[in-house]
Amino acid sequence: MSLHLVDLLDQKRQGLPHTQAQIKILVDAIVSGDIPDYQLAAWLMAVCCNGLSLDETAWLTEFYAKSGEMLDFSALEGVVVDKHSTGGVGDKTTLVLAPMMAACGLKVAKLSGRGLGFTGGTADKVEAIPGFCITPPVELLMAQVAKLGIALGSQTADLAPADAKTYALRDVTATVASIPLIAASVMSKKIAVGADVIILDVKYGNGAFMKTRADAQALAKTCAAVGAKLGRKVSTVVSSMVQPLGYAIGHTTEIIETIETLKNQGPQDLAQLCCTLGGLALVEAGQAPDLAQAEARMRDTLTSGQALEVFKSLVVAQGGDVDVVDNYLRMPHPQHTIDLPATQSGWVTQCDALAVAKAAKALGGGRETKGAPIDLSVGVVLRAKVGDRVSLGDTLATLWANDLGVEEAKALVYSAYGFGESPVPTPALIDSWQLSTP
Ligand code: URA
Repeated sequence: MSLHLVDLLDQKRQGLPHTQAQIKILVDAIVSGDIPDYQLAAWLMAVCCNGLSLDETAWLTEFYAKSGEMLDFSALEGVVVDKHSTGGVGDKTTLVLAPMMAACGLKVAKLSGRGLGFTGGTADKVEAIPGFCITPPVELLMAQVAKLGIALGSQTADLAPADAKTYALRDVTATVASIPLIAASVMSKKIAVGADVIILDVKYGNGAFMKTRADAQALAKTCAAVGAKLGRKVSTVVSSMVQPLGYAIGHTTEIIETIETLKNQGPQDLAQLCCTLGGLALVEAGQAPDLAQAEARMRDTLTSGQALEVFKSLVVAQGGDVDVVDNYLRMPHPQHTIDLPATQSGWVTQCDALAVAKAAKALGGGRETKGAPIDLSVGVVLRAKVGDRVSLGDTLATLWANDLGVEEAKALVYSAYGFGESPVPTPALIDSWQLSTP
């Protein structure tokens, strides 16, 4: 076995391609533990430097996916849709979009992750709703999708475990930043979930995994191509994360913004992103002729209140307190709300997503290590974003705080903002979108 593995490392060091059988040997060795960390780390670094072909990336994705549980929705009637975001700041898209898609008759089975570092996780956010169970067993989740058209679960250790093991090593060997490795990692979990249609929101900017538009576009293209090789329809959107999405960053704060959006009173950037992502799903499902008509149907689910009704039935089905929809005080609230006044007048030229995320984390709303507790009540609510005009003393942002990290959070929020003397355009949220290639 070790001879094979050394040969693989040597091949990749020279930039030579692996065969499908070789990638299988590698993933089998990851699962069985037969490959020591130092050899896997060396292989990962060789991939970072020399890349993987599309075939190699697709094989790696497939074997990662098959290394654990594969969900099978084929018995369900209708088109099963899964959505994934590469993660950002204030990204509550899933919680708005999933009910919108279900209201249009799509079946939505969504497994979400928990937050780590500066990135929040949907599985944590939804726990701000008292009683909401985000860990239903798979059989219940499937039954709920069949009955209601929607269920939210959390990613378990059984989903693509070979990716989980590899990711832990990538994190500490500076080998995360490789497009084929990221694509295989993201897509393996999507392939394991077994949806008919996969919608990917690939974000770029300071508050995102991919820092540049070009890298996000390249990742989106690779993920779509891997999906096509593995027989899945993958639509992609590349969207900006240079400033937070919407105004709320935190857990209770983001659930409030989610519900406001479902009441058609939310921020327009968030609503538009959901209409585009859901519109692509409708077109892929063959239920709308083009994106413009599909987006209009998605928008209707907000104006008619249908998506809000689906959200309520989701909350009830998963044991949550549905009264939160009309009474936000039923969710955890902090002891203080602290307004941060603008110290100058001008046009907002910058609202740095990473600095705002760091502020929410300093208040106790983020975790450094897996499983660490977080404070669901704290966060940052922005009052001004890029393109807005503020006057001296206007509130720039409000901290939702307990006693932890208030001074640090204040400094971080102030550092996030930049001002200019002339008007600046509101930055475009959606850079580009792409339907699956037939
Ligand atoms: N998210 C993942 O799931 N995997 C990566 O490699 C990067 C982001």
